Amino acid sequence: MLEINRLVVRYGRAVLALRGVTMHVADASVACVLGANGAGKSTLMRAVSGTLPAHRGTIDAGSITWRGRSITGRVPADIVADGIVQVPEGRRIFGRLTVEENLRAGGIGAADRATRNAARERVDELFPVLAARRQQPAGLLSGGEQQMLAIGRALMAGPSLLLLDEPSLGLAPQMVTRIGEVIREVHRQGTAVLLVEQNASMALAVSDTAYVLEVGAVSLTGGAAELAASDAIRRIYLGDSDAGVTGVPGPAANGQAPDGHALDGGRP
Ligand code: ATP
Repeated sequence: MLEINRLVVRYGRAVLALRGVTMHVADASVACVLGANGAGKSTLMRAVSGTLPAHRGTIDAGSITWRGRSITGRVPADIVADGIVQVPEGRRIFGRLTVEENLRAGGIGAADRATRNAARERVDELFPVLAARRQQPAGLLSGGEQQMLAIGRALMAGPSLLLLDEPSLGLAPQMVTRIGEVIREVHRQGTAVLLVEQNASMALAVSDTAYVLEVGAVSLTGGAAELAASDAIRRIYLGDSDAGVTGVPGPAANGQAPDGHALDGGRP
């Protein structure tokens, strides 16, 4: 279980990005974090993965606990070794390296060779498209394939918790659906996922629990299916103009139309 308690994060002195966030991700579950631009979603991911200092951010108060032990303020390599691996926003694959080399780089974080071999089999099964293009420079892959590679690279470390920051960003609806399927499959295989998304439709369809962040604080939380059915979520994040008061811009306003996923929150 990942437990985030009353976390306060600042950038420099002026920007208070998280104002006391409390959140739980149970083992082998999927939790999503929804929120507008600037709500603090990436900051939350950075705090968990230990990458805040690289962005000049600091944890001012609160704690992050993983499986009963504090990981607050620890360095990224230690956090990876403990089983938490982040797929950063924007994918950050090595474009000049081959697909194979990118995957191998991810395997460096694996605890041992057996873990690495098992992870490799899993990645090959999950992403046959990558296996077929193993020797090609990763920069030649499409945006969706690069996202698959970024997820595959993270899985090579054999994580128990995968942090996914906006995996659907900039992808065509079909590819967003595929990313949703991948998240379900990763979860089915026993890996917990903390998913940050602007595509609320996809996120709620694959998650067990959901949190809504507004200006650095949790404004709403609950079961994903329950939230998907709530008027506030349908109106603000799913672009449903029939849900109460109209006129609030939904995800369609930033170019991400709801993709027609069933919003039953049902597990595979
Ligand atoms: P987006 O979806 O646009 O990425 P977000 O919900 O991930 O938004 P964050 O990127 O976490 O939000 O930003 C939260 C707040 O912290 C914003 O006010 C943002 O301007 C600020 N912020 C983020 N990174 C930095 C940084 N490196 N230095 C200073 N302020 C930052």
